[in-house]
Amino acid sequence: MSNHYGPEYVRAIAPYQAGKPIAEVAREFGLDEASIVKLASNENPFGVPESARQAMLAAAADLGRYPDANGFDLKAALAKRYDVPADWITLGNGSNDILEIAAHAFVEKGQAVVYSQYSFAVYALATQGLGARHIVVPAADYGHDLAAMLAAVDADTRLIFVANPNNPTGTFIPAAEMEAFLQKVPAHVVVVLDEAYNEFLAAENQFESAQWVKKYPNLLVSRTFSKAYGLAGLRVGFGIAQPALTDLLNRIRQPFNVNSMAQAAAIAALNDKEFLSRSAANNAAGYQQFVAAFEALGLEYVPSFGNFVLVKVGADADAGARVNLALLQQGVIVRPVGNYGLPQWLRISIGLPQENAILIAALTKALAA
Ligand SMILES: *Cc1c(COP(=O)(O)O)cnc(C)c1O
Repeated sequence: MSNHYGPEYVRAIAPYQAGKPIAEVAREFGLDEASIVKLASNENPFGVPESARQAMLAAAADLGRYPDANGFDLKAALAKRYDVPADWITLGNGSNDILEIAAHAFVEKGQAVVYSQYSFAVYALATQGLGARHIVVPAADYGHDLAAMLAAVDADTRLIFVANPNNPTGTFIPAAEMEAFLQKVPAHVVVVLDEAYNEFLAAENQFESAQWVKKYPNLLVSRTFSKAYGLAGLRVGFGIAQPALTDLLNRIRQPFNVNSMAQAAAIAALNDKEFLSRSAANNAAGYQQFVAAFEALGLEYVPSFGNFVLVKVGADADAGARVNLALLQQGVIVRPVGNYGLPQWLRISIGLPQENAILIAALTKALAA
């Protein structure tokens, strides 16, 4: 008898590496929590919108009851916003949940999933968790090579993950290129278009991916309340797809996967246009602040369309880990991306102007050491 539990493909999973919590860094480095700056998880530096906080407090009165398993009010609000029928929407416990549910709904062990090198870690995890085959397509300029991804689709392929903008590199695929790709993907292959950072895009880069869902029955668009809407800790995301896909997602989904407070807060945040535009404006200004500093320091970076920047902090294979440690010692938490195959780089989330300034000073000091 083997003394191992579970299938080999589960034991082979490399656990997701989350950004270090502030309390953990304070303990490890003997620092005051209040002095720590966390720019590691692409969270909204403004925190929870006040509108959402109020909605959560109101929803707290009813926590003795199960949440609405169908998320009627939130789906109605999303349906109105995106001009799709409410039964085209699937709610998720974060959009990670949507990605995971999609993998379970559309792929079986032995079939294949296509995704890009340097794309979101959850695609590899969701694929591995099924014992499915990974088809990892080499990136072009740190972004998706859609032509190569299309060419990589084989007879066993059932799912393609595309992150736009991509995490951790921040690259962006323009609408025309994206739609040309959707037109060519075989009808039996589902495309998950993961748009976690969509709300940070400048107006000229915004496109109506929700409307593409009407044209492409194999398209599932996923969005989240974790980034621009400031609700990462609450865990709410959603998918938009035609009923043939949505029906399967709902069979796999846990009935109460989005809690009552999260449903209420998401509706409030969705309607809080002021918070969203303030977040986008802060992000655009912070991006310029980072780019100016990286250029002054002579650092290579990948132009980003998200709320973070991937920056190369040295030429040797230990550069990312070394500079990350030097930043932690100064109370600044960023994200090393060695696990993505980018050991010379760090991913830095855009914060408030004063947080960005602290990062820039700490990085300057770390590089001089
Ligand atoms: C942050 C992120 C998500 C969203 O995660 P949630 O589960 O919604 O918090 C999804 N996709 C990408 C590419 C991300 O970076």
